[in-house]
Amino acid sequence: MSESCSGEPHEHGMMGCEEVLVHIQTWIDQQLEDSVSGLVSSHLSRCPVCDSEAQTFIRLKAALQRQRSACDEIVVERLQMFGMRLCRGEIPPPAGTSD
Ligand SMILES: [Zn+2]
Repeated sequence: MSESCSGEPHEHGMMGCEEVLVHIQTWIDQQLEDSVSGLVSSHLSRCPVCDSEAQTFIRLKAALQRQRSACDEIVVERLQMFGMRLCRGEIPPPAGTSD
């Protein structure tokens, strides 16, 4: 099942907005085949609508990644440090937890 073009035929090397938007996230992830990726890129260079859509996705993705990885690193690092110090007995048991 590898029939690709089931929709309307498009002009040589042109991709319609709808098709571009279907691929946009994959394109941003750089997971598209080169041939498809090239079509998306050339469409974006001429179509401000799709281009701004792409920019939105890119910014969103970058923001999410930055946030998530920064969080993860800090949390993981702290947990590891805490675990290590606990193991070495550097952290005394909490005091004053009884009445
Ligand atoms: Zn477009």
